[in-house]
Amino acid sequence: MAKIYPQAYFGNAIVPIESANLSIASSAVLYGLSVYTVFPVCIGPDGKLLAFRLHDHWTRLVNSAKIIGIDTFARDWTEEKFQKAVQEVIAQNSITEDVFVRVTIHVSDLVPGVRSRGLGTTLSIFIYEAACILPANGARLKTSVWRRVPDYAIPSRAKVNGAYVNSVLARQDALDSGYDDCLFLDVSGHVCELSAANVFLVRDGVLHTPSHSSDILEGISRRTILAIARDMGMTVSERTIDLTELYVADEVFACGTSAFLTPVLEIDKRVIGNGEIGPISAKLKEVYFDVLHGKNPNYKDFLTEY
Ligand code: PMP
Repeated sequence: MAKIYPQAYFGNAIVPIESANLSIASSAVLYGLSVYTVFPVCIGPDGKLLAFRLHDHWTRLVNSAKIIGIDTFARDWTEEKFQKAVQEVIAQNSITEDVFVRVTIHVSDLVPGVRSRGLGTTLSIFIYEAACILPANGARLKTSVWRRVPDYAIPSRAKVNGAYVNSVLARQDALDSGYDDCLFLDVSGHVCELSAANVFLVRDGVLHTPSHSSDILEGISRRTILAIARDMGMTVSERTIDLTELYVADEVFACGTSAFLTPVLEIDKRVIGNGEIGPISAKLKEVYFDVLHGKNPNYKDFLTEY
């Protein structure tokens, strides 16, 4: 079990995590009708806490609510109020390590039936230790028999809690077969993403990743890696990707808040490259780590300091 910090934000106040509870009769519990985001808060060189790309996480959260039709939330919350709530919950916990901060908008009205508009919401924030969801040295993936939910069923670009049952099905199946995570294909059989991370491949020095129209979550780490790679002078390509392109890639890696940047060393029993982290993945991993920890002045704008 991950270590969870004792103070949470719930409704409009800081409360002990044990008291931050939703009713069993809420739409959040009944239908998974909540949207969320998770961002890292890392320890900077001078010991200050650094939250990563808060504005982008807020924007994605608001957009997730908009897609699902959770429309009372934007009335009650502004970005400024959100930033203050994050600051408050960080201040109320003694944080001396890198952590993840999970922010969720729950539809909390009781027994309203399957709809989304005009219902009351509750915002929660809690903090937990930044444990990587993949083995840090490299992951082994299994292509899933379960396909990623398409935009016309449950849109992946909306980070909606209920849709994570799709990830649970696919990842548990991969774990049951002795792998570290699943590789999702989209409904047309193209490469999509992992259960909770985006995927990249390197071939002949070019970085490729599935485009936003491949039913991926629009990952904020993904966007960051693309920016870093472009700034390093690399050619990057966001496009439709075939599964077998991954098999013959020089390097494959996954990225996401909870996956950081993790090399993928094997997919469906095919060894990727020479079975070790490749030079481009290693460089991107190093730069990304430095960016998160405030050690790269070029990306300071991504960080909010506490
Ligand atoms: N895809 C899925 C399905 C995810 O759950 C996540 C984690 N939020 C990601 C990709 C990576 O997104 P981010 O970089 O914003 O954490």
